[in-house]
Amino acid sequence: MLVLHGAGVSSGICIGTAYMLRRSRPEISEYLLPDHLVDSEIERFSRAIKEVHRQLSLILERIPSNAPKEASSFIDTHILILNDSMISEEPIQLIRNRKCNAEWALHQQGKMLTDMFGKIEDQYIRSKSTDVIQVVDRVIRNLLGQDETDHQSLKKGQIIIANDLTPADTVLLKHKKIRAFVTDLGGPISHTAILARSLQIPAIVAVHNATRFIKKDEDIIIDGKRGVVILSPDKNILTEYRKRNRHITQLKIELDKLQKARSVTKDGKKILLHTNIELPADVKATIKTNAAGIGLYRTEFLFMNRLSAPDEEEQFKNYVKVVKAIPNRPVTIRTLDLGADKQVDGGKHSGDVAINPALGLRALRLCLKSPEIFRPQLRAILRASAFGKVRLMLPMLSGVDELLLALEFVEETKAELKIRGIKYDKKLPVGGMIEIPSAAIAADLFTPHLDFMSIGTNDLIQYTLAIDRVDDAVNYLYDPLHPAVLRLIRNVIEAGRVAKIPVAMCGEMAGDLRFSRLLLGLGLTEFSMHPASLLGIKKIVKTSNIASLKRFAKKILAIKDIGELHAAVDSENEKQNRRNTQK
Ligand code: PEP
Ligand code: MG
Repeated sequence: MLVLHGAGVSSGICIGTAYMLRRSRPEISEYLLPDHLVDSEIERFSRAIKEVHRQLSLILERIPSNAPKEASSFIDTHILILNDSMISEEPIQLIRNRKCNAEWALHQQGKMLTDMFGKIEDQYIRSKSTDVIQVVDRVIRNLLGQDETDHQSLKKGQIIIANDLTPADTVLLKHKKIRAFVTDLGGPISHTAILARSLQIPAIVAVHNATRFIKKDEDIIIDGKRGVVILSPDKNILTEYRKRNRHITQLKIELDKLQKARSVTKDGKKILLHTNIELPADVKATIKTNAAGIGLYRTEFLFMNRLSAPDEEEQFKNYVKVVKAIPNRPVTIRTLDLGADKQVDGGKHSGDVAINPALGLRALRLCLKSPEIFRPQLRAILRASAFGKVRLMLPMLSGVDELLLALEFVEETKAELKIRGIKYDKKLPVGGMIEIPSAAIAADLFTPHLDFMSIGTNDLIQYTLAIDRVDDAVNYLYDPLHPAVLRLIRNVIEAGRVAKIPVAMCGEMAGDLRFSRLLLGLGLTEFSMHPASLLGIKKIVKTSNIASLKRFAKKILAIKDIGELHAAVDSENEKQNRRNTQK
């Protein structure tokens, strides 16, 4: 029995077997063939192409009919690339002319193609070189007789062990019904970790040696809360964890009873509890938890795992699906936040990479520079607004000028729709995410132009503390209770109060029970989180008294020592939890 430690990013316990997801690229060397073997090498190559075609078609058939379209379009793209003569025929010429092995010929051809993609100006098309690499690698693996990489041998309920997972991987794995994952790398607020929480599966990142120590099909236990992976557990440990699992299930059953309960504090303050979603299918969980609405719809996930961007119509249909699924409840559609770790292709091999992508052309900056992406999305959101209570939210505001420019885009789109006689909500609320310190400090400059604000603590913490949210080397500095972060949050809430516009929080901090009382005390009245947290937060809301939490928040803000501050937050939570269980 061996125990590995990492950062538990999604709680829960899972007992199962390990599935090793290997991503390293195959090593290729060139060797020359005698003349008489050239034809059989060409045949070997053609057989590999056919076999990969068969594998991809099989995957396509196995995708459940209710899976979002992007899951199958990802495979469609790979089949298209595979069928292209650049991949299936050009290498044959190379084998013939150079008398080289098939792997080398394909490797060279793949390299030539990705170099070519790298020179294309359009960032989106350029990023497609990843798909070419994936197809090339798949054929090469087949030629080398190595395991395929599309998880066909992944059995239902297995635990994924990987060096790292991209958000795009996680979306695909979602359809494999994985029960937990462990990665060598990653941070607690990476989008992959966020997805794990929204899937409600235990996950541990930054384990460092997971792929080295865990063996294929080995029995393991994942304790997502404690960030512990137990390899080949003995009988006693298994019994203990099964007991804990039953306890967690029992707690969930208790919480489920709060679905219909109102989200109101003991002293009568109504607190809005919203959900964060990534795909239309996630709306089911919003309905199940009886959330007041959707506080963050991360629309960029529709753009992942596919060759071409979804057009206006496809985006519109996705939005309408969500809006109609929860009539009379607000759906906050955030405009695209692509870039940094959310590349359309999952961020791998995409040609030129910014040195600091999180500080680069991301989110609203990318949209303002790419009207061909921004305008169709704005049209789709505005059109969807005719079908329900849509709110539009702009991510990553850093200065008022860019906000004004974005608002101009919105107004122009409205005017265009009006001329074309297309319906939209003329009073569509437009809000902004406050997730860059400049916007949090100067929130009062933004409020005159916004209908609401939402604090994105994931990025706000990343930028305030200068810690890359996906870099496990600096994970230890991640601290939502850092006084600088708390002061910024207080500042935004205060700016909203003065301007009389609602302030929500949709970063991960909003769904963390440890911070709920402090946030209530700071005056936060709208929380948006992954659905799995919602009922736990509601339980805290219902047992809280705002007047006393205000005093608590004031006390916390006055503490200078960080250790003392953490201890004071924990002790208040423990005190309240004890009091509630005694009742
Ligand atoms: C945030 O930054 O807190 C947020 C909610 O947005 P995202 O995690 O998608 O960057
Ligand atoms: Mg953000």
